[in-house]
Amino acid sequence: MSQSETIGNWREVGPQTYVLPTGKYLLNAGLVVGVERALVIDTGAGPRHGTAILEAVRTMTELPLVVVNTHSHFDHFFGNAVFAAAGTSEFWAHEACAADIAATGEEQRPFVAEAEPEMAAGADENTTLVVPEHTVGEQPVTLDLGGRSVELFHLGRGHTDNDLLVGVDTVVFAGDLIEEGADPAFEDAFPQEWVHTLERLVRLRKYETFVPGHGKPVGSDHVRIQASTMSRAIRIATQARREAPSDTTKAIPIMPYAPEHARALMGRLT
Ligand SMILES: [Zn+2]
Repeated sequence: MSQSETIGNWREVGPQTYVLPTGKYLLNAGLVVGVERALVIDTGAGPRHGTAILEAVRTMTELPLVVVNTHSHFDHFFGNAVFAAAGTSEFWAHEACAADIAATGEEQRPFVAEAEPEMAAGADENTTLVVPEHTVGEQPVTLDLGGRSVELFHLGRGHTDNDLLVGVDTVVFAGDLIEEGADPAFEDAFPQEWVHTLERLVRLRKYETFVPGHGKPVGSDHVRIQASTMSRAIRIATQARREAPSDTTKAIPIMPYAPEHARALMGRLT
């Protein structure tokens, strides 16, 4: 099956603002089209995935492209080289994301051994690691796309230490800070801070549509529920640890997540 068959159709979530659900990893790519250039949010897990996303982008716009990576997990940035080869020179990420891609990018290659064997092998120029050179720290950055602007901002640690949000009008692309259709992924997470980051995002009262890194766009209620569920899970895990420090596995069946997610969360509690 060719890659193009696994990719969905662009869904409009705002004026000239689109989400592309891709079959692979159920990743959402985003697109915001201005007058002079367009912004692509996340590039996929390797050259196959990245090429499919780029081809889909080119059905929507011929404008020069700027890329933003929402965080330093392989499925969100391994497609960067495809965009670089096609002429994109401006890649954005949180400063800690750029640092983590540089530090752990090579180690992440084996994750795509099946889906993207060329990427796993580092076979050619389309599989080089493109580390974003434009970075965002504590201060938000506004990107002018011509006729419209998008805001890149960080609200604290959560799914990783480098989650970047992309706000445009009333839509915000949230990367894996928000999950739809699956439990949140805690492997590199800061669970307690994640709850606060989500609460902060809702409190901005600026956004109506929240685009997760995977799954369907959601409203603020979903984000609020994700935060309160996570908060409850942390309470259960913390209490279990207090009561039986040597055996916290008893808490796993009563956690509001699937066992492997509950276990990952417990491993990341401070
Ligand atoms: Zn992730």
